[in-house]
Amino acid sequence: MNPGGSFAGERPARRFRIRTYGCQMNAHDTEKIANLLHHAGLRPAPVEEEADLLVVNTCSVREKAAHRLHTDLGLLRAWKQAAPGRIVGVGGCVAQQEGDALLARFPHVDFVFGTHNLRLVPAMVEAAARGHRESRTEETRSQERFDLPERHPEFVAASPGRAFVTVMEGCDMFCSFCIVPLTRGREISRPAAAVIEEVERLAAKGVREITLLGQTVNAYGRHDAARGHADTAGTVPFAALVHRVAQVSGVARIRYTSPHPLFFGDDLIEAHGALEALCPHVHLPLQSGSDAVLARMRRRYRAADYLGIVARLRAVRPDIAITTDLIVGFPGETDADFEATLDVVRAARFVDAYTFKYSPRPGTAAANAADGVAPGLAQERLEALQDLMRGLTLEAHRARVGAETDVLIEGESRRGKQPSGRDPWHRVVNLAAPAFGDVAAGQIVRVRIVEATPHSLIAELAGHA
Ligand code: SF4
Repeated sequence: MNPGGSFAGERPARRFRIRTYGCQMNAHDTEKIANLLHHAGLRPAPVEEEADLLVVNTCSVREKAAHRLHTDLGLLRAWKQAAPGRIVGVGGCVAQQEGDALLARFPHVDFVFGTHNLRLVPAMVEAAARGHRESRTEETRSQERFDLPERHPEFVAASPGRAFVTVMEGCDMFCSFCIVPLTRGREISRPAAAVIEEVERLAAKGVREITLLGQTVNAYGRHDAARGHADTAGTVPFAALVHRVAQVSGVARIRYTSPHPLFFGDDLIEAHGALEALCPHVHLPLQSGSDAVLARMRRRYRAADYLGIVARLRAVRPDIAITTDLIVGFPGETDADFEATLDVVRAARFVDAYTFKYSPRPGTAAANAADGVAPGLAQERLEALQDLMRGLTLEAHRARVGAETDVLIEGESRRGKQPSGRDPWHRVVNLAAPAFGDVAAGQIVRVRIVEATPHSLIAELAGHA
């Protein structure tokens, strides 16, 4: 399949770089764009200075990230002018929201594409090369957006042993702080057969770990089921999908992100007790431990519901690691609300958390709230929460010292250049022993944890002194 026409054979292959901001969905979109560009005959450049095409895959979930894009795009003017024929494309959530306005504000941007329009990128590059500037941000309700080519033989994944597989996109939850329903559109699920086919293709190429991806991944297929259309849409309950993935030969590990507490059914909890391949880690966003704040956030669960899920998961999988997302300083958050969050964090014994200070996003329900928390107070709360989390992470890491585990090697550690990967609990493990000469990315190796640090575990290959 060649979705965008080929540049190969007409001139030396154009070379591209992609800058990626934001969440795992964006990281996966970047892989999809890179793969599409490979199919169109382009090849990756080692550095931006050697690229002919630069794509910026943007994030608007926090104010800071959106501002950063505008600074970045300003700086890219010099990059574009440094060599003739250079092309700049902008995609992702800011592109989805701003569309034509980005073209108008930044004359050196050649094309803008929304989160539903990745498959158009090769054709937009070709058009840009002919001097045509355009913005394509229309939302499509069809399965077309999932209809992307399989991995090109020359496509090199960031981590060869792991792959993301999109099972649903969009979000219909409209939490009052969140821009995602506006940037990613309405929920739409892929047929289970298409998901399994993609998993089978990846496993056949040596991928050992599959992460099922969706904005509210465990809401997969819910609208089809509610309307009685599951058969025609080809979807199944999310837990059933996980069971099917576990049957694919070669798949050693399954993860999913991010689930929503509201859709966390008993069948998914039971899967954690029954399926060896389903990793003992769940990233389950809590956001706040105060019921009053949760209600204002429109999260549709209470703290006790959340802790009930954690308890039921621990009943079937006592060693399960739970990580989360937390927001402090949401409008109207009192000292007592914040204390309630700290209480739930202690009770849930989170192993790790992404912690944020609330930042209003234009267009969301909470954006114009009058009872904002003073920035200094929000900062104090963030620091107190981060202190608590640092202690919990280190405690969890220390409890692992001396144990053996399996690590899927992803590459080299940032600092030490040792082989580095993740264990089933999603902890970063860096290999410290000298005898790892033949350990390669994509391989699963048995290790013994020898040291705990605040951010990672240090291990030796099991069987080596
Ligand atoms: S569930 Fe809420 S926080 Fe998550 S993507 Fe949807 S609106 Fe945003």
